[in-house]
Order: sequence, then C-alpha cells, then structure tokens
Amino acid sequence: MPTLLEPTLKQYFGYDTLRPGQREIVESALAQQDILVIMPTGGGKSLCFQLPALLQSGLTLVISPLISLMQDQVEALKNNGVGATFLNSSLAFGEVQQREKEVLQGKIKLLYIAPERFANAQFLALLDRVKISMLIIDEAHCVSEWGHDFRPEYRQLHTLRERFPQVPVMALTATATERVRQDIIQQLNLKDPFIHIASFNRQNLYYAVRPKDKRTYTEILRQLKSTDGAAIIYCLSRRHVDELTLKLQNDGIAALPYHAGLSDKDRTNNQTKFIRDDVRVMIATVAFGMGINKPDVRLVIHYDLPKNLEGYYQESGRAGRDGEPSECIFYLSYGDIAQVKYIIAQKTDAGSQKVAEQQLRQVIDYAESPDCRRRIQLAYFGEAFFGNCGNCDNCLNPQSLENWTIEAQKFLSCVARVNQKFGMNHIIDILRGSKQAKIEQYQHHKLTTYGIGQAHSTESWRKLGRSLLHRGLVDETTDGYPILKLNELSWEVLRREREVWLPLTLQIVKQELPVNRTNSKEVPLSDLEEGLFQRLRSLRKTLADEQNVPPYVIFGDSSLRDMARLQPQTAQAFSNVFGVGSRKLARYGIQFLSLIHTFRTEQGLPNAELASSMPMLPEAPIQLTATHWVTLELYQKGLSPEAIAKERNLRPTRIINHLADLIEANQPVELERLLALQSQNDILHAIEEVGHDRLKPIHEYLGEKYSYEEIRLARGLWKQRQVT
Ligand code: ADP
Ligand code: ZN
Repeated sequence: MPTLLEPTLKQYFGYDTLRPGQREIVESALAQQDILVIMPTGGGKSLCFQLPALLQSGLTLVISPLISLMQDQVEALKNNGVGATFLNSSLAFGEVQQREKEVLQGKIKLLYIAPERFANAQFLALLDRVKISMLIIDEAHCVSEWGHDFRPEYRQLHTLRERFPQVPVMALTATATERVRQDIIQQLNLKDPFIHIASFNRQNLYYAVRPKDKRTYTEILRQLKSTDGAAIIYCLSRRHVDELTLKLQNDGIAALPYHAGLSDKDRTNNQTKFIRDDVRVMIATVAFGMGINKPDVRLVIHYDLPKNLEGYYQESGRAGRDGEPSECIFYLSYGDIAQVKYIIAQKTDAGSQKVAEQQLRQVIDYAESPDCRRRIQLAYFGEAFFGNCGNCDNCLNPQSLENWTIEAQKFLSCVARVNQKFGMNHIIDILRGSKQAKIEQYQHHKLTTYGIGQAHSTESWRKLGRSLLHRGLVDETTDGYPILKLNELSWEVLRREREVWLPLTLQIVKQELPVNRTNSKEVPLSDLEEGLFQRLRSLRKTLADEQNVPPYVIFGDSSLRDMARLQPQTAQAFSNVFGVGSRKLARYGIQFLSLIHTFRTEQGLPNAELASSMPMLPEAPIQLTATHWVTLELYQKGLSPEAIAKERNLRPTRIINHLADLIEANQPVELERLLALQSQNDILHAIEEVGHDRLKPIHEYLGEKYSYEEIRLARGLWKQRQVT
C-alpha cells in the first residue's frame, strides 16, 4: 500500500526514516489490525501509534497508567504541532469541559486518559459523539498479574472491546516474558493480532561491572565530573541514598535524593528538577524512573546489587532512550552479596526464598562472567546474541579463549545421563566423583560419567556450566529449583557440530574505567562544535523554562549535536537537522539560527544573511483517508480520472481532488499523464504571481488556457513543494 509515512514523519517529528519494525507496525495499524508491540525502552513505541493516529481520520484514544508520562507525551506532541491533550483527575471541571469541547471540534488527534476514566459517565457520553480510530493500551503489562506492575484498573479495559467492537486495539509494553504477552492478548481480547517483538539489545548502552571498594566513590565522582549529562545512581536503601547524596553535594555535584521516605511533594519536586535539567544527578531507590520519560540520561550506576537480572536490565535501560551513547555501570562487592543472602535467609516462605536465591545467583553470575554482558542479559530474555558486541567491558578487553568442547560434552552428557532431572551442583559432583550420600542414593556413582572430570576443580566446572547457560547451550528451570535441561544447541555440542570456546580467567575485571569513553560509531564533536553545542543547550534550557516544559521537548541532544555539526544558516538547511519538523522550524528556527549566526560571527566564520522570519508551513498536512488510497490504486493501474469516477460511482471532480491531495502529500501520482511538464511549470509560475488561495485568479492570469481541474492538480504540486 502506498503511504504517506515519511513526509508525515518529517513534518511532525522531524525524522527522515522509521526504525526497523516501526513501519510494519504503522502499516498494520492503518490496515485496522489488532497489534501487540513488545519493544524495549527507548525502542520508539510512541511513534508506532502517534504516526497512524495522524494518518487516519478520527480520534485515537491512548490509555496510560501514569499522569506524569501522559503530560510529558502531550507536551512533546503539542510542540510538534500535533493536536493532543489528556484528561485525568488532576484537572478542574472547567478545564475538562474545555478539552472535551476541543475533542468534539475535531482539534484533537490523540487523547490520553487514565483507565479509571472509563467509569465516568460524562466521558463515555463524549466518546459516543466522536469517531474513534484506534484504542492504544500503553504499558500493557499492567493488565497482567504476572507483570511487575499489575494495575487492577487495567482489568476493566476488556469492557472497551465490547463497547467499541469495531475499533482496532494496539497494546504496547517493554516487558519481555512470554507469560505476560499471552496474558495481554487474552485479557484485552486481541483478535488475531499482529505481534511485533523487537530485539531487546540496546546497542547504544555500554555495560560494565566494577568492584566496589574504597576507591569507588572517587571513581564515581570522576565519572560525574567528566560528563555533563544526566545520571541516575541506584541504591538499595534510603540510608544509602541520603548518605551518597550528601557526599556528592559536598563535592559540588548538583544531586538530589529520591526514595519512599520523602514526602510526595519533595519527591515530585526532585523529579521535576531532574527532568528539567535543574539538577544533574538523581540518587534513588529502584522505585525511581517508572514514571519518567527523560530520554537523555547518560549514565546509570548501580551502587548496590540489583534484585534480579530483569530488574537490572530495566533500570539500567533508563539510560540513553534517545539512542545516544550512554553508560551502565554496576558496582559489586562481596559484602553486599553476603548482606542480600542474609536478607533472603530471613524469608519465611520457602518458595520465594528459593526464587530469590536463584535470582541472586544469576546477578552474581552476570557480574563475575567474562562473557559479553549484552549476551548474558539477552540470553535471560531468550534472545541469542553472537560475537563481540564492542560495547561492554568484557568485549573491549577480551581474554584469550580456550577450547572447552570436550569438557562441555562431558558436562552435557552427564545432564543427559541423569535424565535432565538435576541441577548444576549435582552434575559437578558426579563429574568430580564426589562421595556425597545423594550420589549413591540415586546410584549415580554407577554412571559412565562418574569421576570423568577430576582434572578440573569444582569452581572451573561451575564456570563452564554458567558459560554454557549464558550462551544458551543448556537451559535451566526458573522456579527456584533450577534443573538443567538440554536444548537443540546442547545436542549440537554433543554431536560435535559445535565447538565451545571460553575465556581462561574468570573474575571481576579490575582494569581502570576509561574516562570519556566515546562509542566508536559516534564521531565526536570538535572543540569548536562542542562550544556551540553548549550554547545551544543553554538556549534550549531558557526556552524550556519560559514554556515550563522539559528541555528535551524543545529539541533532543541528537538534534542539538546535529545543529552544532551542520551549523545551518538558512531555514532550508535548518529543516534538514535531525528532529526538526515543520512546527519546530516555524517556532524555534529564528532563535537557533540567530545563535548559530552570532557564534559563527564571533568565530570569524562566513555567514549567510539571516532571514527575518521563518517560512510559514501549513499547520496540518493534508489528511489522507481510505478513499484516497482507492483512487491512487486505480490511477496507478492506468485508469483515467473519468474511468475511476465511473468505476467508483463518484463525480470526476472528487477524483481530481483526491489526486491533488495525493500529490500534495507527496504520493506517487504520475502527474505527467494528465498535465505536460511545461503546463505544470506555467501554472506553478502563475501561482507564484497571484497566490494559491483561489483558483479563479490563476485561471484568469493564464488567459483561461488551463481548466480548473488542471490548476487544482498543479496546485497540489505547489503545496507539496512548500513542505518538502
Ligand atoms: P519507548 O516508549 O519505546 O521507550 P520512545 O517512544 O520514548 O520509546 O522513543 C525513544 C526515543 O526515540 C524518542 O526520543 C523518540 O523521539 C526517538 N525515536 C523514535 N522513533 C524514531 C525514529 N524513527 N527516528 C528517530 N528517532 C526516533
Ligand atoms: Zn559485549
């Protein structure tokens, strides 16, 4: 199906291309399908529904659990010139009425609401009076009790399906587990949904594990001083948060605490200051970050142990949502491990104790492993990753590899011999020929694998076993009673179809953490550009404060960096900057161009003359609907407008209007079939002379040589060129 995707993407969001996956999702949405999107934080979920919302007639309803997220998204959309608003309990009655009026007037394309809203009779009456194009369930894992954030209000959402059976539903989440996915499909009654599961690999994130000792504080301080981006430091207890905050403040870092012991007001204030770039560092317990969307967090430090690997993935994943290089550092000390073990031992419920122990072990394995950090995290979600990622401590300092294939075969065949019913320790006991009572009890001293592994220590076998797990060469059950299971890859190793190469030494890497590490893919800014970048940032901050919005709503870091690099001097050049859509061009173009102009003058660089106003671009582009697509399809088959009109039982002028709209929206309409190039140019020239508003003056200016239809078509082309 031909689409308007790219022009609309550039116009409203300022981006040139969709990310992999986004296109299929948007196209399925336009095809009225139910959709489930599983994408990691920073993957670009919002665009998956915001773009189709703009390309369809009617209102898109977005259900979102958190008021702060709603507000931020709506601000960002408005700044891009998209009609968006939200309704929630924080609004005064008059305000609600005003917004409902805007919805009825068709000014709103995206309406954000909390799920409770559906219990409100006035709201339901409003919905009966508008055409709803899609229902979006954001943070859809909230519907599942298996998720980490179950919300009973989400359970009521299935009633929406009954109330609006014809309206397609799109559910989105960053939660990866299969159980939650199935639950979402079932609870929301998604019909034959298109399911998109994105890779959970966050390429722009650098992962490292560091020993936590007396030098750690200095190292963190140095890290914070060597960058100027935002950072989050996670601690397990309030006391740690408070102590670390005080220390950093004393050392001149703009830092604030965030934990459950603060009043609601203080917490909100601290969070707002962080989002608005008034403070740079947030020291927090893990609760922090759920409700924030800040895309430009450059560093996430775990100062204490994360609870489990999934938690670590989600928390560290709050870095670099904008796709810019960012770092995730995890500090581990054996004292911390002992402390967590002690806490787990206090648990009275044996089941949850076992699960907690297994989760702790997985975290320690992750930290101690010489394997790619990314591979271990992804393996945890069942995703395979091969090779050197080039962006974690282990891959950047690879250790020499040894061939462990024979040992792996011994290990795996032992798993097979015990019928895949035992855990790692037991397997190792058999291999090492242990005299434990449990071995004899199961008659395992009679196995052919008994005692064949005495050449290696228990610890070496354990390292091998963990590496096999991390590489997906063997599986383990996760209910707290971990049992090893063979999989396809295990059999490949056993059949000698696959070799196993592992690093020799296994310990937490001790090398110095490099300062100012830049991701190799990024070309760093020159000193001059960096200077401009800083000035652009402060302009952004000033504008954001004037408007009372977070700075990233004005422009993201990537946009400012692009500006610093390109140094555009004309509106045209400015519109080519990453993230500059037509609204932002019109709204902020002059201010940023003037700053660049001043900067270049100061530096003695040549400058183009500064325009006094930005070109006015149409506020809303043409809205294409299904009827346009039908016309385009027939036209592309070679039918004339008259023939299409006949086929569709419509008047020919309607068809001409469709074609003019399609041309304006930069769709593949071969205009030459209807209007020779020379004639097009004549009409374009006339429009430049007498304006585009009315057809009659154009008609007259051209001595009535061209029909109104022809002028209409050429005007579509003229409008298209104003946008692009
Ligand atoms: P998620 O909700 O999945 O965590 P967001 O929707 O907040 O992610 O998107 C993360 C960032 O990526 C945002 O800054 C967004 O503007 C940007 N982004 C999304 N899609 C694209 C794209 N096609 N091109 C460039 N940037 C994009
Ligand atoms: Zn790696």
